[in-house]
Amino acid sequence: MIEYENLFLSNREFTEELQQSFEQTLKSGWFILGNKVKEFEKEFALYCGSRHCVGVASGLDALFLSLKACSFKPGDEVIVPSNTYIATILAVLNAGLKPVMAEPDIRTYNIDPEKIREQITAKTVAIMPVHLYGKLCDMESIMEIARENNLVVIEDCAQAHGAAYKGKRAGTFGTFGAFSYYPTKNLGALGDAGSITTDDETLLTNLHRLRNYGSDVKYYNEIIGYNSRLDEIQAAFLSVKLKKLDRINEHKRKLAKLYSENLKDDFIKPHHDENYYDVFHIYAIRHEKRDELKKYLLDNGIKTDIHYPVAPHQQHAMKEIFKGIPCPLSEQLHASILSLPISYFHTEEDVNRVIAVMNKFELH
Ligand SMILES: *Cc1c(COP(=O)(O)O)cnc(C)c1O
Repeated sequence: MIEYENLFLSNREFTEELQQSFEQTLKSGWFILGNKVKEFEKEFALYCGSRHCVGVASGLDALFLSLKACSFKPGDEVIVPSNTYIATILAVLNAGLKPVMAEPDIRTYNIDPEKIREQITAKTVAIMPVHLYGKLCDMESIMEIARENNLVVIEDCAQAHGAAYKGKRAGTFGTFGAFSYYPTKNLGALGDAGSITTDDETLLTNLHRLRNYGSDVKYYNEIIGYNSRLDEIQAAFLSVKLKKLDRINEHKRKLAKLYSENLKDDFIKPHHDENYYDVFHIYAIRHEKRDELKKYLLDNGIKTDIHYPVAPHQQHAMKEIFKGIPCPLSEQLHASILSLPISYFHTEEDVNRVIAVMNKFELH
């Protein structure tokens, strides 16, 4: 059986260093907002090419706190992609703002800048592009739209640690880059964790307060805040894994190249453009008989996944919110997309096996 993901195997190579960092943290006797978090924030900001990084509790909180840091008014509108993980939209709703959907570019699956333009109203305050599957959005066009309309840009980088466009990394184009370190992400903690990159000193202060009860100095509260801190132990693990991130990304890119060069053309493969350094958090193909294909692969000992089976506007929780809003491209993608095994523990042999089986898939 070829598994889709196995987090024990994906982390096995780092076991010793992770154990050492656990022991160090335990011995330090300091578990919340200490040196480990400060070190990781510095390292990750440097890695991305951003001035600052603020560790928070999760990717969802990174998005949510970025929105809160801007002090928007209730009901202000935020443009989000119609095909994304639900967290992007939950962040907007939880911040008391209105998510407005823009459809994707059908080639890249990322938000289409022209569709963003169509959705801008007098109430629009921000754009939240999602670098889906590890490919950057068309950030040149998106930043131009943002400048013309005076909008804040919050990049959802949860799937794009280290991804770049013309050498510039995810999280350095917009006002904020929101990262998740959920264990399956390219840079994954051993639990929940997230962070925000920004160059803006004022917003940085807001983020520091928001994540820690609205406080700069213990027991003195400047604003209404939250408890959303990155744990010392997770920061220590992340410092270990950050050193391996380029290797993890390169491994995934090598497997992606194998798929792209050898899968037959019945499958729609990820769009390739030399200017983009894609990190393949997910390797997604499309096929009109997706469900049959998924079953055929499982029958042949290959597990796959779907990111995601239900479009956000069709989720039970969201039906009322997006009632009557058509998202045909998102629906088309959700019905045809399939994620193939591309984890750090997968070998070239694994991928060649998947390719061989897939190339024998016939329509019945
Ligand atoms: C994983 C993910 C998130 C949420 O991250 P958590 O750490 O699970 O809260 C947000 N957006 C996207 C696109 C994601 O893939």
